[in-house]
Amino acid sequence: MKKKPSIQRHETLEQILHRTRETVVADIEKQLGRELDPRKIDVAMDTGDWAALELSEAVDHRILEMRYKTYKEIADAFRRLEAGTYGACERCGEEIPVERLTVEPFARYCVPCLNQIEALEEVEKGDGKSHSF
Ligand SMILES: [Zn+2]
Repeated sequence: MKKKPSIQRHETLEQILHRTRETVVADIEKQLGRELDPRKIDVAMDTGDWAALELSEAVDHRILEMRYKTYKEIADAFRRLEAGTYGACERCGEEIPVERLTVEPFARYCVPCLNQIEALEEVEKGDGKSHSF
């Protein structure tokens, strides 16, 4: 059974996501050299239509795409927050510590699960060669 996060945790998670979104929007604005209307970003995001942002030719679309991807992840995280699943490990359902989500807002697994997943992936790669670092 997945437990719903406490109200306090919910608020903390919400703050983390808001901060993350602000950083990304500030980044996009810096890229464009002007301030953006967040509603226009939402429109561009939903329709995939960057024309809504009235981009100039000089804008590097690749960098923008990267920011855009992050922005979509944030929107997705907000949806999961509303559903009460954000910040819970997708594998075991344990709550991911706030300290970790602060630095990694899109973390989907707790550290023990992440280690196990990575170990499994190593096995699955299974090319028989031993890796030296
Ligand atoms: Zn886990």
